[in-house]
Amino acid sequence: MPLYHYQCRNCESDFEVRHSWTDKNTVCLSCKSSDIYKLMNHITPVVYKNKKLVDNKKVGDEVKSAIEGGTKDLQRMKQILKKKANDTK
Ligand SMILES: [Zn+2]
Repeated sequence: MPLYHYQCRNCESDFEVRHSWTDKNTVCLSCKSSDIYKLMNHITPVVYKNKKLVDNKKVGDEVKSAIEGGTKDLQRMKQILKKKANDTK
């Protein structure tokens, strides 16, 4: 099954879930909210997925900072993806 990367609008954490593309019942792993949206994950390297499980809270805080700075959704997404690329170097 494919791995999907989501961000939660409620607690602003981001997380990855492996499920069928037909499954729409995914909820936030942190707060169980269903108010989440899918991020692009096609460049997510395998090594980052493992790191992600440990650093989930830290990344969420950084995303929160970006949101507080008035960044738009698309820009936030870009930042997250950019950070991923940097983390794996
Ligand atoms: Zn949440």
